[in-house]
Amino acid sequence: MNPAQDILQSTDQHVDSARLWQSLMDLARLGATAKGGVCRLALTDLDRQARDLFVQWCEEAGCTVSIDGVGNLFARRPGRNPALPPVMTGSHIDTQPTGGKFDGCFGVMAGLEVIRTLNDLGVETEAPLEVVVWTNEEGSRFAPCMMGSGVFAGKFSLADTLAKRDAQGTSVGEALGAIGYAGPRSVTGHPVGAYFEAHIEQGPILEDQAKTIGVVLGALGQKWFDLTLRGVEAHAGPTPMHLRKDALVGAAAVVQAVNHTALAHQPHACGTVGCLQAYPGSRNVIPGEVRMTLDFRHLEGERLDAMIAEVRGVIEATCATHGLAHELVPTADFPALYFDKGCVDAVRQSAEALGLPHMDIVSGAGHDAIFLAELGPAGMIFVPCENGISHNEIENATAEDLAAGCAVLLRAMLAASQAVAKAQLAA
Ligand SMILES: [Zn+2]
Repeated sequence: MNPAQDILQSTDQHVDSARLWQSLMDLARLGATAKGGVCRLALTDLDRQARDLFVQWCEEAGCTVSIDGVGNLFARRPGRNPALPPVMTGSHIDTQPTGGKFDGCFGVMAGLEVIRTLNDLGVETEAPLEVVVWTNEEGSRFAPCMMGSGVFAGKFSLADTLAKRDAQGTSVGEALGAIGYAGPRSVTGHPVGAYFEAHIEQGPILEDQAKTIGVVLGALGQKWFDLTLRGVEAHAGPTPMHLRKDALVGAAAVVQAVNHTALAHQPHACGTVGCLQAYPGSRNVIPGEVRMTLDFRHLEGERLDAMIAEVRGVIEATCATHGLAHELVPTADFPALYFDKGCVDAVRQSAEALGLPHMDIVSGAGHDAIFLAELGPAGMIFVPCENGISHNEIENATAEDLAAGCAVLLRAMLAASQAVAKAQLAA
């Protein structure tokens, strides 16, 4: 008799939807805003209160909690074989200043609900399970974002990270000390058996397609640039049209090109000009300079580069036509990522076994799972959020969809635990 196998063979969700929802609502009280959202910036006293609550709940569920040097929290439920690398899940409980109740918090509370469910069912897993709270995923108070998982994955050094300061001049190290969450556990060198992260989609696709589960194939590669176009400022009246060097007219062509290239490289392509400033910004002066940001995203690196090459061509042609000079400076470069096939399959099979409508999807945003994928097999589970809105106080999701995502997580983690044990036997 193998209780874990019984769960995998049943079509029951097993998780307690009401308990998951209540945990999310209890957590959302810490930093609750008048408009129904949450403001709980990383490493503030509200973050401490939320961490305290998480630790209390995990200890009540029989887990051992350890804290590393950047404040990441690891709640461990032992497995039958303590030598196996843990099957991990997690996300973040910090929010944007006008954030919602579900972004990040769902992934952490879903992990806790998996532990509570396994306790209720008396299931012992082969590999240990860990539920993780990653420090400062949002990057709102301290940059960069995905800080804790980045340090864990060896992407950022601990010393550099602890020295990062917020707008008031407080460092990460000082803030961690102030809330008592600088722990003794080493930040790197921990084996990862597998990592799953459940998250609200933060986009409108699942809702639009009436699907409950997004099987996340990977995350879009991103390349960002700052573009400056320089022409000549001149009087808007006496300067005839054919003699102008209007930087904003050039910029308009670039905005069009960015939009056009993303439309031409579907699926999984995005192109955005998010900021645009024209100088000197006077109604009767021809703009002599425009500064703008370009954000390109694609799942395939070659297509991403092709989009950028097309826009580069338009920039050069436009500058030639309008007598402009330009400068294009790269500011960010995140390669596209495909999650581990075994983890992706585990998520898809779990959704299928539970009879949940599902579809393959890619993440347009960054998540801690992207860094974890460097350390071991990783995957993500998306659930719909109302109107696709997040990073907003009105962010919302249904208890039913959240429970479904949690049930998929439970099964995926059990399957991964068996796979980890099997791999150990084979080794
Ligand atoms: Zn998030």
